Amino acid sequence: MDLFEYQARDLFAKHGVPVLAGEVIDTPEAAREITERLGGKSVVKAQVKVGGRGKAGGVKLAATADEAVARATDILGMDIKGHTVHKVMIAETAPEIVEEYYVSFLLDRANRTFLSIASVEGGMEIEEVAANRPEAVAKTPIDAIDGVDKAKAQEIVAAAKFPAEVADQVADVLVSLWEVFIKEDALLVEVNPLAKVASGQVIALDGKVSLDDNAEFRHPDFEELHDKAAANPLEAAAKAKGLNYVKLDGQVGIIGNGAGLVMSTLDVVAYAGEAHGGVKPANFLDIGGGASAQVMANGLEIILGDPDVRSVFVNVFGGITACDEVANGIVQALKLLEDRGEQVTKPLVVRLDGNNAELGRKILTDAAHPLVQRVDTMDGAADKAAELAAAK
Ligand code: GDP
Ligand code: MN
Repeated sequence: MDLFEYQARDLFAKHGVPVLAGEVIDTPEAAREITERLGGKSVVKAQVKVGGRGKAGGVKLAATADEAVARATDILGMDIKGHTVHKVMIAETAPEIVEEYYVSFLLDRANRTFLSIASVEGGMEIEEVAANRPEAVAKTPIDAIDGVDKAKAQEIVAAAKFPAEVADQVADVLVSLWEVFIKEDALLVEVNPLAKVASGQVIALDGKVSLDDNAEFRHPDFEELHDKAAANPLEAAAKAKGLNYVKLDGQVGIIGNGAGLVMSTLDVVAYAGEAHGGVKPANFLDIGGGASAQVMANGLEIILGDPDVRSVFVNVFGGITACDEVANGIVQALKLLEDRGEQVTKPLVVRLDGNNAELGRKILTDAAHPLVQRVDTMDGAADKAAELAAAK
């Protein structure tokens, strides 16, 4: 989960990374009181989960409270690289910026380790610096067990050639930033710019944090960091039901058991769809092993509730889950939905194979639900589902 700048800033402050005071608002007028409290001037910063806000006009200085309201008016509602600005942060303005640096820690998957990236040429996108002046970017692997203590931080500072007068401060920032990385279970913590201001002090002026969703169970407080406004309502409903669901923009609803099977189902449906006017999968939904009628009903409910869906492909390969259980699940799920008063009107194509396939197929045949068709091969079923979606 990527965080907004203001959320990253809160985590930085919690672990001792120096930041400036600020508050987040969603109406322009609220900028006035905060700016007055900050001493009559502020910087108005668009809160969108994309970089380059400054260049896009999403970071503006305000010399008075009136100006802060005017800048907040400009920025709220603005579109930055496809992200609409719903919130702005009104922050204390940095004293005159003398230099801008870059520091980050991230999970380096390719090398199976953690990595520090540091540069004295911050402010702009680090990818740009790395492409044009690779010698200005210092990459230092971090041992997962040893982590970053002051000595390791000094090694990073030396590798990136930070000026002597800020070396100690930057090393302290790195130690605190590493604490954010580890204690918050982050995959990325980035400060750009880490600014040296006229007083000589070093301050994190912008932060980017990406948290590891797999660690959410250790952090009950992560829940409130989710951007509910941006969440797709179907995805939010699926999450509430504990389903592994991702909304896509096609027309064929997909349900399968096992992430690998569902992934290949998406491919097969997209391929079959080419012959039917380019219909595509409408979602990813893995109901996992041992799916009960209840889970099947929950999955179907989400998929049938998607107005883009015109047909549904249920693709199950019975392994631990026996096909007869899945078939019963489908029959019961349809009944459950109908009992709940939900009108099921979209055709379902079901392919069952593997453990107890014969019995499962018989259950579907006997149930003879008018919307359910059985096709016993994956390719054939994908083609049928695509054809039904195209015909609707
Ligand atoms: P980004 O463009 O999305 O990375 O947003 P940043 O928060 O990094 O802001 C872009 C630039 O605006 C920074 O590199 C700074 O030069 C400048 N900036 C950000 N905050 C302040 C501030 O408080 N005071 C001043 N003078 N400049 C700021
Ligand atoms: Mn930045």
